[in-house]
Amino acid sequence: MYAIKLELKLNNKERTQLAQHAGYSRFVYNYALGLYNQIDHKEYKLSTSKKLDTIKKVFTNYTKKEKEYQWCNKLSSRVYQNAFRSLKSAFSRFFIGLGGYPRFKRKKNNCSFTVDSSNGKVLLPAGKSIKVPTMGTFRLKEPLKNSYVSQTFTISRIADKWYVSFAVEAEKISPLYHEITKAVGIDLGVKTFATLSDGSTIESPMPYRKARTKLANFQFQNRHKQLGSRKLGITTSNNARKYFKKLAKKHDKVAKIRADFLQKTTTDLCRRYARLRIENLNISGMMANHKLAAAVGDLGAYEFKRQLLYKAECFGTKVDVIDQWYPSSKGCSNCGAIKSDLTLSDRLFKCNECGLTIDRDLNASIRLEKAPDEVVVNRVGYTQINACGQ
Ligand SMILES: [Zn+2]
Repeated sequence: MYAIKLELKLNNKERTQLAQHAGYSRFVYNYALGLYNQIDHKEYKLSTSKKLDTIKKVFTNYTKKEKEYQWCNKLSSRVYQNAFRSLKSAFSRFFIGLGGYPRFKRKKNNCSFTVDSSNGKVLLPAGKSIKVPTMGTFRLKEPLKNSYVSQTFTISRIADKWYVSFAVEAEKISPLYHEITKAVGIDLGVKTFATLSDGSTIESPMPYRKARTKLANFQFQNRHKQLGSRKLGITTSNNARKYFKKLAKKHDKVAKIRADFLQKTTTDLCRRYARLRIENLNISGMMANHKLAAAVGDLGAYEFKRQLLYKAECFGTKVDVIDQWYPSSKGCSNCGAIKSDLTLSDRLFKCNECGLTIDRDLNASIRLEKAPDEVVVNRVGYTQINACGQ
């Protein structure tokens, strides 16, 4: 499943209609939450779901019929059904620790509502407009390129623009084409960010390395500046204040370059390759070595792997994760002999058995490519083809 979000092209009448429905949704949500909060939970022992069902019955059978709430009946009843559903899921997120206690929705930051089709999925033909169940047909800013089927639609306002979003089945997407179909191993390294077993390499971005060095120098030059502490009776000097502000800005810049690099690299890899093999990360072992930590840890080997795995599913790329204890660097990619005296400073791998001499990182990536199935600890992207927004 993935979501499609489209901007609507509306006239004033339609804008009013959508704003009214968003108001209705907010009203029902807050009404139900208000009643729920008034329940004496010690006295009335039922599950939250059952309590909310009771509140919904009160709303449907009494409140909605009162004169002052007659306006509700002019609006889509799917809105209040979904508002109750959304409050229920807010409570279940809260109970499993994924979110805070549900709060009242306020007009200024909650302008959205959800409707669904009560008789199953509806077809959304490709074209310049979209028919939203119980709401009518709206024009789209950009045409819908393919036909889809979906059941639940959320309409929301962001700034002064209105959007419709809905989930569609991933199976409708045609399999993605990959330039390179053979399995390729990736070794994350010190000298080069990544070395691939097909001989290509990915260098960490120059501006990043420069910015990092500058940042380190800047921090060193200002190493005596300290933030104030009431406990120790130290006040922050104006210069220190300026320094920490500047430092935060510089950190932010480095982080942005890094994030951008990782996003582009992982997308590019998943787009080009059909099958990748990477090593499982032993973060604690890596961080124990300071030089490696600076190079690999900083550029986010962990983040790299995380992005690679979720994008693999989006692009239909298969990824094999190889056991971190498998000797990828120490084994010969030609004959398999293990070289126990290999040190981190050895840039070349020279095999004592077969005489192979090869770049250390390239050797490791070929070892990953050829690693036997027994050392594959995780497989990603094998079962289904998904599609994400990228
Ligand atoms: Zn060898």
